[in-house]
Amino acid sequence: MVPVVTGLIAVMGLPSSGKTTVLESVLRQKIELKPDANVGFDYYLNRKRDEKCLSIYDLCALGSSQHNMYAWSFATNRFGAIYSILSHLVRRNPCIADIEFETTCQSPKYVTDMDKHVRWLLTRTQELIKSIQNDPGKVTLIHDGVSLINVIDVGVNKALYPFLSMMLLHCHRHIRLAFFSLDRDVPNLEEKPNLPHDLYGKRRDDVLVMRHRSRLTYLLHFATVGYTQQQRNQEDVQNATVMVATRNESATDSKIVAEAKEKISQQAQSRGVDQFLKNWLEVNVNNDQSIKELGEKIEDLIKYKYKQRTLLLPLRWIVLRSLVVSFNSRGTKFMIVRRSFIIHSAKELNMKETEVDEFLKTFTDFGSILYMPQYDSIKDIVIVNIWEFTQYLNKLYYPQEGEPYASNLLKYGIISESSVKKIFCKHPDSAEDFMTVLTTIAMASKIESGRSILIDDHQQRNEVHYYLPLARTHEEYNPPDKENDYAFIEIESVNFPANVQACISYAIMDNNKDAALIATEHSNVSRFLFQSESGPPITIEMIYKGSKTRLRILNSSSDTSLATVVEACKKVITASCRCLQRKINTIRDLKYSFAVPCCKSPDDKCHYLYYKHNPEFCDACPAENNFRLYWSSAAKQCKLLEKDSEARMDRDNLLKSQDISSLITDDYDFIALKRALNIVDDSGLLPEGAVRLHPLGGKIIAVPMVEMPKSCCLVKCNDWLGKNKGLKVFKFPLNDKECCKRWAAAVRREHCSKEELHDK
Ligand SMILES: [Zn+2]
Ligand SMILES: [Zn+2]
Ligand SMILES: [Zn+2]
Repeated sequence: MVPVVTGLIAVMGLPSSGKTTVLESVLRQKIELKPDANVGFDYYLNRKRDEKCLSIYDLCALGSSQHNMYAWSFATNRFGAIYSILSHLVRRNPCIADIEFETTCQSPKYVTDMDKHVRWLLTRTQELIKSIQNDPGKVTLIHDGVSLINVIDVGVNKALYPFLSMMLLHCHRHIRLAFFSLDRDVPNLEEKPNLPHDLYGKRRDDVLVMRHRSRLTYLLHFATVGYTQQQRNQEDVQNATVMVATRNESATDSKIVAEAKEKISQQAQSRGVDQFLKNWLEVNVNNDQSIKELGEKIEDLIKYKYKQRTLLLPLRWIVLRSLVVSFNSRGTKFMIVRRSFIIHSAKELNMKETEVDEFLKTFTDFGSILYMPQYDSIKDIVIVNIWEFTQYLNKLYYPQEGEPYASNLLKYGIISESSVKKIFCKHPDSAEDFMTVLTTIAMASKIESGRSILIDDHQQRNEVHYYLPLARTHEEYNPPDKENDYAFIEIESVNFPANVQACISYAIMDNNKDAALIATEHSNVSRFLFQSESGPPITIEMIYKGSKTRLRILNSSSDTSLATVVEACKKVITASCRCLQRKINTIRDLKYSFAVPCCKSPDDKCHYLYYKHNPEFCDACPAENNFRLYWSSAAKQCKLLEKDSEARMDRDNLLKSQDISSLITDDYDFIALKRALNIVDDSGLLPEGAVRLHPLGGKIIAVPMVEMPKSCCLVKCNDWLGKNKGLKVFKFPLNDKECCKRWAAAVRREHCSKEELHDK
């Protein structure tokens, strides 16, 4: 066994916030190359570096976490494994001079990859022993074990973000640094991030990336992406996010810093993610001393976070990992390896299947490899070279103009399987697995035959095609303001849904043999054609726009029967529900609802549609022979839209006056309470200054200091965009399930414990 500290540090942030500069400076300061090293520092930095995609630095530090002095180095050439072996030897044999190597001879025809690899590792270990024999300090450090730390630097890349949100969900031992600039970002937190054309225009990122929301929202996204609701209160997540404010001047007005912090925290609080924002650091990007201090603080954080959680890893796991990442075919290292293949190799180390699974999980936890067995379709797939994987993501989503497949990919997001194979010519065996991963994490949809794809009314060849909505470069379509003849799916989540378009398209195409995808240029639009037996085919358009995905029927002429249109609508609704109920989405706790906008105020009023329910349209929203009738009739038949289904947005549950009166029983004077609280109706605000924090439900719970029954509590509710949504009153103990649900939604908790229910 070797004592090992593992960790993944994800460096993310707003564009041009200085994160890469700071990170590289920290590495330069922390890592001392040997004076006789035959390659320079830049060689190590550039090995897996891509500013437009992902950069990875595999680091190794001696001394586990016990020592104050970490000796950092780049873990190239299996140095992590070699140091681990050495640590193992030194621990068993404190007198290093006594260690002797004996290599057994074996007939060459029985030599396996494992044999060769172990021999190679031992030779290197032997060399290392010679070089440190006279350095007792180092030997002591090694005795205590090693730290294996992967650092990833996330560049601006539309394909990388959804992949990373998935990856971080599975790397449980990670710390993330979310960078923002005090000079560039803080004065404009409400505005969209700035992606200047001269830097980002060539790849069209200036018009395609981070165009929907404010800097503040993206910053919070980086701070929280990849956490599930369930994880939020767990130990893993404690102290895992560090907000890093960068500045160019030596002294920024401390008031500005405090204000920025306050503003960001408030927004985080209103979204129920403030528990992530406990650590704040500040760094002057032009000052070595300031960068050095930041480096030390980050190092402290790693030590603090993992001190109690040093792992004891069997040496054979380390050997296996080292072998797995060395697998190659004709000099090209594998990017993806089958789990079954790893199990086969592990047999030589006497490892059983269950042990291999533990091994895979442990090394996924800190992003050394990526294995996501939660999804059945990729249970046998292990990504052993994450950097290479992201390089191919980049190749696929940013194709070189001039490649024969580039035009359809850039214009329509469509590529044939044979073209994908061409892109993967260096990894021919990995192409299919790669695409399976993308389909599973909802970045691509697989379409069984090009026959069901129409480009300019022409069917494509009869082979598998992929639809990658994100690959398109046409700017987004902006529907006219006055348009309100659509239904929409609203998806609530602090973390953005994965590519909703790819996911829904897949569900539509996979379940309806009569459906065709109509290639569309705008990067946020997908169109589908549904054949009908009686009349002309029905075309339905899906426009992805922030939290609302609009659905529009493009052609419903008088000669199409009601049943035909409703049938097509039903297919789209069913597919949308299927998509949102996929594990990939439920694991992220997506909540959604289905509705049509109300004509009175299309932006913030709507009529919800449910299974088996007649919608209650108002006078302003007639539903005779129009889209309202079609969508509501379709929803009514769609079992997946059941009213009680868990995946449903809760905002309809805001208490009305009558709810409050039923919660507060006759024991209390309800009218007096309302008057005391200045509640005009149920959407009134709490009087400023008349609130204090209630210990029960965190910060958003306020109990007015006016006379009020002690067992009641008022919750000031915000929707997930931070807009005030009025007050809810709760009386404890909460006596029914429905009430408990509302309480949980209000305080944004997964559930309330029994103690809470009985707390008075
Ligand atoms: Zn256009
Ligand atoms: Zn209405
Ligand atoms: Zn509960």
